[in-house]
Amino acid sequence: MSKSPPKTRLVVGSKNPHKVDEIRRMLAELSVEVLDLSAFDVGDIPESGTTFEANAVIKAEGFARVTGLLTISDDSGLEIDVLGGEPGVYSARFAGRQGDDAANNALVLERLKGLEDGERAARFRCVIALASPEGLILTSQGHVEGRIAHEERGDYGFGYDPLFIPEGFDQTFGELGQEVKDSISHRSRALSAFRRAFERYLSKSGR
Ligand code: IMP
Repeated sequence: MSKSPPKTRLVVGSKNPHKVDEIRRMLAELSVEVLDLSAFDVGDIPESGTTFEANAVIKAEGFARVTGLLTISDDSGLEIDVLGGEPGVYSARFAGRQGDDAANNALVLERLKGLEDGERAARFRCVIALASPEGLILTSQGHVEGRIAHEERGDYGFGYDPLFIPEGFDQTFGELGQEVKDSISHRSRALSAFRRAFERYLSKSGR
């Protein structure tokens, strides 16, 4: 019996388990073995860039170098128009402490206090980068438009999900649940574009 060729291994270079799950689900139909960082002894990579793209590239290149494998990383966040695009690349630490979702959401509500729906426009943005240990291979992007709710609603998801009402809906991502979010989110859109580009890369490089 002939053995099937070994699958290409792809590391998801993120320490956020919610993101790793979302990315894993959306890459399920690709013929690659998806690994997370738990299999490797890696430290943190400081997100020192001032754009989502710069940070995604820094993380993908850094994790690819330490793992020695193809690595996909994303950088994402929320842009609120009336705040001039804040929190942007500082989304995870808007209120000061890295990853404090409750404090970040409270600060957003505080900053938008008294504003009508029409002044609460926002979008989630995501940039994905793919790197090998030799360097950057490609980037892809996605975004979803919406607005900020007047209070937190719903328990699904993470981060700003209880505050974000995507265009065309009245409920927040926190209420809509994972299936709806996966079908329209910034990350799923960036991942769809990524999947197409990655398939082209795989066939061109003969992997
Ligand atoms: P990153 O890990 O540097 O990309 O940080 C992204 C931050 O942006 C997260 O900690 C969240 O605060 C926010 N964010 C990004 N994507 C989402 C999402 O899908 N839902 C809710 N918040 C998100």
